[in-house]
Parts: sequence; structure tokens; C-alpha cells
Amino acid sequence: MSRGGWFVCPVCGRELEGVAGGGALRCSSGHAFEVGKRGYVALVVGRSALVRSEAASLLDEVDALWGSGAYAGVAEAVVAMLPAGAAVRVVDVGADLGHVAEAVRSARSDADVLVVSSSPGRLVRAMGRAGAEGVLVDPVRALPVRDGVAGVVLCAFGAHRPAEFHRVLAGGGVLLLAVDAFQVGAVDDDLYPWFEHDQTRIVAETPGEGVAVLRYRRRRRPITW
Ligand SMILES: [Zn+2]
Repeated sequence: MSRGGWFVCPVCGRELEGVAGGGALRCSSGHAFEVGKRGYVALVVGRSALVRSEAASLLDEVDALWGSGAYAGVAEAVVAMLPAGAAVRVVDVGADLGHVAEAVRSARSDADVLVVSSSPGRLVRAMGRAGAEGVLVDPVRALPVRDGVAGVVLCAFGAHRPAEFHRVLAGGGVLLLAVDAFQVGAVDDDLYPWFEHDQTRIVAETPGEGVAVLRYRRRRRPITW
């Protein structure tokens, strides 16, 4: 997908389109956002203390953990749970630095992946690893992603934003999560109005109760009370 095809303007909500030459995105109101030299676009308005990089040593620890193979089962389970069919579009909001998205791209070379993060450091690592596009976002604002643009939202150990995940997924889309197994009940409760729990696999040779990979189907209409 062209870079512009994923996004809406974080100022006015209108669709962003790529400018000729590919170095920027612009909406029809004239708000423009440059694609930085590290390859991602920052769709952030003003300054936010929540948009920042962590220490490289912390990211190294995440990479080492995933690189050790401890979570290989997570990536395998996610790949097994991908929807069948043609080119799948994936929005990755996980905290795994692109390790799962890399496996998705290996298994499905036609997969189109967008990495979403509030940390430039995380974003650059995940994009490079997964061969994905990336967008820097403010974590407390709506995702600057178009309605219904994704077939899969992928979230390995990232923050859950069920209403936003529902909005960016197309009809028939699925949400794939990795969480600590003891959290499954609480996650089900949080997601219930927007998503229907579909599949569970307990994986990973980790201490404690292990990791659950969960697949949820997008409800056509959220349940309201
Ligand atoms: Zn705008």
C-alpha cells in the first residue's frame, strides 16, 4: 500500500495522501507531515511527554529475549491464526520490536505491515526487522489510521485499545494478541463489547503460566448497554 493509504490527519481527521516525491503526507486542509530520514512519519500534534524513546539497553533486552527463541511459539501461533486469502494488511501495535511481524512477513510475503508506536527507538527497530512501514503516534489520542483499513491488528504485549482496534479493522477482521496467560479472563472482559473470542493457544517456554496467543473476531456492531 502506498504510504498515504493508511493514514488520516491527526489535526483534522481527513485522509492523508502522499505528496509527489514521497517525502511528505498532506491532507485536503493543507496540514503536512514530513517522512523523516529514519523512514517513518510522525503523526503527532504538538509535544507529548508520552512520545519518547527508551534507553537502547532496554530495547536490547527485548531483542535478546525474543532472539533467544523463548517466544518462538508466539510467532508460530500468530502465523497459524492469520486469516486465509490474499494480501493481508496488518497494523502492528505490539511491544515486541517487530519480531512477530517479521515471522508474518516470512510466512506471507504479500503481507503489508504498518508498525505503530509512541517510541522512535522501538519504531525504527520494528520497521527494520519486519520490513514494514511505520508511524509515530501519541498514545492517548485516536490512532491516525483510516477506518476499516486493516485485516489484522497484531498486539504482542502492547497496550490494548479495543475501540480503536475495532475501528481500524475491516469487517471480518481479526485481532491477534499475545498476553501472559493469567490475564486471559481480564482481556476477554475488556474486549467483549467489540470482539468475540475465537481461538486460544498457550505457548512459550517461559517461567510462570506461559503466554496465551488469542484470536478475536471483530463484532460487526459493538455491544452497548
Ligand atoms: Zn488535516
